[in-house]
Amino acid sequence: MKITRLSSPNFNDRQFPLDMLVLHYTGMETGDAAIERLCDKEAGVSAHYVVRETGEILQLVDEDKRAWHAGVSSWQGDEDLNSRSIGIEIVNGGHDWPASDGSLPDYPDAQIEAVIALSKAIIARWNIPADRVVGHSDIAPARKADPGEHFPWQRLAEAGIGLWPSAIGAEVQPSERSLRSIGYDIGDLPAAITAFQRRWMPDRIDGADDEDMRAMAAAVVAAYSAV
Ligand SMILES: [Zn+2]
Repeated sequence: MKITRLSSPNFNDRQFPLDMLVLHYTGMETGDAAIERLCDKEAGVSAHYVVRETGEILQLVDEDKRAWHAGVSSWQGDEDLNSRSIGIEIVNGGHDWPASDGSLPDYPDAQIEAVIALSKAIIARWNIPADRVVGHSDIAPARKADPGEHFPWQRLAEAGIGLWPSAIGAEVQPSERSLRSIGYDIGDLPAAITAFQRRWMPDRIDGADDEDMRAMAAAVVAAYSAV
């Protein structure tokens, strides 16, 4: 895997052991604009890696350092997720920079293949559990929507990154309980449901706490408890 090295000044020391992987989209007009911002001291943001549409991988921060990509966030009761994670920014305009027909811009194949190869290497290097591979929207549901409902989580799970529930039919519980047990901060329940749908039910993002949502949440709980 070829990785081009750049250098962002935006990092410091980790306060906790590294056991998470957080995936983002850049949400800017171009990859160059995003990379410039991630290396700008004034902006005060960074990520360990950026993956361009072509599949080119850039590293901005050493893996053992704390990059600044997650912000205020929570997963499975943990906070300061910058201290616990590696962050990958995937170049994609996202919700703010849609395609010309108004749809969310595609993640090209070459880019997803590179994200898969990079993620697999990181997960193996740091022994990251499948239930701690997350999207930014999972850990900051009231603030963030990236990497977006167009991100192919199921394809990543099939490649061994994170997981995808294999069967529906697990014991259904109230949404609060399922979502909390998966790892979501349920302080804002509709936001948590929306984030859940964005990741696990991408065709259906309406925040509704209904039977379909509860069944899928139960399936994810079952899959996570097998990790
Ligand atoms: Zn993000």
